[in-house]
Amino acid sequence: MLEAEENQGVVYLIGAGPGDPGLLTLRGRELLMQADIVVYDRLVHPAVLDYARSEALRIYVGKASARHTLTQEEINALLIRHAQEGKRVARLKGGDPFVFGRGGEEAEACRAAGVPYIVVPGITSAIAAPAYAGIPVTHRDAASSFCVITGHERDDGKESGRRTTGSAEGRRDWARLAHAADTLIFLMGVEALPEIVARLQEHGRDPQTPVALVQWGTWPQQRVVSGTLADIVDRIREAGLGPPAVCVVGEVVRLRERLRWFDDPQRQPLFGKRILVTRAREQASSLVELLRIRGAEVLEYPTIRIERLKDTNELDKALQSLNGYAWIVITSVNTVPVIAERLEALQLDARAFSMTKVAAIGPATANALREKLGIRADFVPTEAVAEALIDQWPDSEMRGKRVLLPRAREAREVLPERLRAMGAIVDVIPVYETVAVELAEAVVENLMTGSIDAITFTASSTVKNLMQALSRGADDLEVRARLRSVCLAAIGPVTGQTLKEYGFEPTIVAEEHTIAGLVKALESYFAQRD
Ligand code: SAH
Repeated sequence: MLEAEENQGVVYLIGAGPGDPGLLTLRGRELLMQADIVVYDRLVHPAVLDYARSEALRIYVGKASARHTLTQEEINALLIRHAQEGKRVARLKGGDPFVFGRGGEEAEACRAAGVPYIVVPGITSAIAAPAYAGIPVTHRDAASSFCVITGHERDDGKESGRRTTGSAEGRRDWARLAHAADTLIFLMGVEALPEIVARLQEHGRDPQTPVALVQWGTWPQQRVVSGTLADIVDRIREAGLGPPAVCVVGEVVRLRERLRWFDDPQRQPLFGKRILVTRAREQASSLVELLRIRGAEVLEYPTIRIERLKDTNELDKALQSLNGYAWIVITSVNTVPVIAERLEALQLDARAFSMTKVAAIGPATANALREKLGIRADFVPTEAVAEALIDQWPDSEMRGKRVLLPRAREAREVLPERLRAMGAIVDVIPVYETVAVELAEAVVENLMTGSIDAITFTASSTVKNLMQALSRGADDLEVRARLRSVCLAAIGPVTGQTLKEYGFEPTIVAEEHTIAGLVKALESYFAQRD
């Protein structure tokens, strides 16, 4: 970027996709990560906001704001004001910004004010919600065109956010709309549904034409109700289905019977399950992502936060004289970035490891080593626990050999003790510590109302920290009683044992002690139970 432009503000009009945070585009995420200010709407998934830097100011301008509703003009002014102050403003909108998102008006306002803008298209709910319901909007045998229509047209000349029953009627040319395409897709159409189906039939669409409404498409709470033009209104009423929903009219709706996948409990046993993931935030993303892809609603509770120790003297010295160590044992993914950072600071690289064998506690750690340091571990035990590491230790002659063990301050002593028993000289260097985090009120509330289906534990420390956080709460006993009806899922036997020590029988102990193994175990548990 030119220097003169560096301090100039800009507006990024970003489509956040329909809900599922995985449906944000790479470009959208990239710009979001650079933003100073994020202005977002109601239908944007909270996990998408997490991509913004923690210092970024987040401003909610959703229509259902309890306190205050900004008019479109006020939103435009807000974007322009911040951009003119030199800020990078991400304007995050549900779906695609130019599909009934009023993104066009915001771009016009920027243009008029001389503020530069970038548009990042998003995946529109018009196509994605049907897709997650197993309904392709076109199909060779069923439809060769589709048309996206608003269910309520603006009728007051300015505010289309205001709902007026019957506004679908207005100036519309229903004769044309009814036959505009094989598949008709209505957004914002729940309230006007009786009107829509009546008009379509009036203008010659067969009453037996299949119709589906997809509510909260791509979200864990997705619900689908299908019927025909003749009966869909009654069915929706019976099901109590309201906005936000996409309404699909046409033969393609029949395909759901065969193509249903996301909300199909047989294929996705975790769909709609609310799972509390207790983990250090730095580590949580892969588990959270795997669960979300499977349709689970994930609440994150970072029971622990990884804090690097400030004093890196000992580690630096060890890294500078790695040649003197026969082995380095990496017991957690958390150690890898610390080592990477120190190597960089010391102007060293992977060649520092050339004389030293590397043991990694499990596949995730081995992967991190490969990705972050370009180092292939010499030894990874079949189970990711200290005991397995020792039992399967590949070097039979350890007498007098030096072993470097950088790890958490509060780790167990098994590893150094048993290595020493084999005759090794072990240097234990604490490089990070885990710090407890308070339990969020929302999590306690979810526990108390019985709306959590499972809790995952990926380390003994997550069990300890959750238990400690619970005992700090006033209704400790009650929460504990509640915990007994929740599926408690441990990644492995050591974590499971810690649960037992706190008086809880783990419902699941994953056979394969990895994140993927834990997810697999949860799937088979819920597949059998439901
Ligand atoms: N720009 C958005 C649409 C904004 S209008 C897009 O491209 O998706 C808001 C309407 O979009 C809602 O009334 C509803 O009809 C639809 N909508 C948005 N997200 C949805 C979702 N996850 N599931 C179903 N409908 C959704």
